[in-house]
Amino acid sequence: MEAQRQNRLILVPCPFQGHITPMLQLGTILHSKGFVITVAHTKFNSPNPSQYPDFNFLEIPDGLSDLNVSSKNFVSVLSDFNITCKIPLQEALTQMVKTDGHLEKINSIIYDEYMYFCNDVANHLQIPSIILSTSSAANMLTYQAIPRLVKDGYIPLKETMLLDPVPELQPLRFKDLPFSNFTDSDGLLQLISEAHKTRTSSAIIWNTAKCLEQTQLAQLGQGYHIPFFPIGPMHKMVPPSCNNVLEEDHKCISWLDKQTDKSVIYVSLGSIAFMDEKEIVEMAWGLANSKQPFLWVVRTDSGIDEDVIKKLPESFEETVGERGCTVNWAPQKEVLAHRAVGGFWSHCGWNSTIESVSEGVPMICQSYFGDQKVNARHLSQVLGVGIQWENKLERGEVVQVEIVIRRLMVDEEGKVIRHKAKELKEKIELSIRQGGSSSSSLNDLVNHILLS
Ligand code: UDP
Repeated sequence: MEAQRQNRLILVPCPFQGHITPMLQLGTILHSKGFVITVAHTKFNSPNPSQYPDFNFLEIPDGLSDLNVSSKNFVSVLSDFNITCKIPLQEALTQMVKTDGHLEKINSIIYDEYMYFCNDVANHLQIPSIILSTSSAANMLTYQAIPRLVKDGYIPLKETMLLDPVPELQPLRFKDLPFSNFTDSDGLLQLISEAHKTRTSSAIIWNTAKCLEQTQLAQLGQGYHIPFFPIGPMHKMVPPSCNNVLEEDHKCISWLDKQTDKSVIYVSLGSIAFMDEKEIVEMAWGLANSKQPFLWVVRTDSGIDEDVIKKLPESFEETVGERGCTVNWAPQKEVLAHRAVGGFWSHCGWNSTIESVSEGVPMICQSYFGDQKVNARHLSQVLGVGIQWENKLERGEVVQVEIVIRRLMVDEEGKVIRHKAKELKEKIELSIRQGGSSSSSLNDLVNHILLS
């Protein structure tokens, strides 16, 4: 079913890279199905409208200035958005309706699961609402399990049980739960419980595919009473576009062009996690000694000394020569699709995860916090397309870095993992083709929106 052009959707992304990207991809997909798209966004990390000439953009005054977000204040910043943005969004939409007289034509508000205040706004305006979950189904299962784990006395987590398997969530161990190493775990549990509630929303959209999380999606279905639509990986359904908060450095593509097929290990930790200077030094030597070509994203917005790589001893430069390329921010999807890339050392954010498996690139999984730990376990233990790195990057780990890179890139073990990654890529391609599971789910979603 194709929507008529007067059908409008309001999309409300959570203003972080890993959340903005899938929401804009969803907008592009639904626009291609005939909907008019308005993106209501915070001032903080606002998207670039010039990249999306077909969308309307509506700024929600977020009342928060000079935000510097890290894993330490992530939870409180998200909670604050849910307080400060509610009335401004309500007023902005009311105003929009008055000016355009279009209330009856707003089909739905689609909001990121962490922007849960939107449910109240939708109810106030008597518009249906739908949730977009930008993380994995496996991660959502851990949210769903929290009340049970509290009831059975497992939460608060105890140091002594961190390596034990979580009942009914194997292969996850307690240390893999998204809230296990958070300084503000009470705050996170509170946020998770809010994000997990479906309130009065009519459906949930997932940026995942059945072939990636069949069991987890089936299990989730038992806990929800509203339909859900796994329509991912969405980045494979839209033309490439740039909606990055940081500027992409394309010099790495011409560097990749000079490398042999599947020889390069790409290293990136996404937009929030970062290595401190000591870890960077360990990583640098591990990469140098691995003898593999490497492309490394070292973000200078993370507070580290911009020249940390340049300050390494001359012997580093002598060892690496032209074999290494570092950038502040890479065109990641293009990088992962490049023939020269043979492995991805990743923090396992969900977008990086699906971008990598969609290109058949096997991974070294170094998770930091939140859902990354669940994804790392899923990639290594369930899908078999990654090796989990659980060591700390402390002095003396250089040898381990070198060994794990060679395990993935050179050894027999790596060949088996690469083969599985290739098979998974093929399954993903089938799922987004006409008649595939994600493509059919998308058609169901469009029908759902039009009939709500
Ligand atoms: N990304 C990028 N260039 C980089 C690093 C990351 O374009 O140098 C993109 C990546 O393609 C992904 C997003 O940033 O779409 C990161 O999202 P993810 O969920 O993996 O991690 P987060 O940043 O939310 O921790």
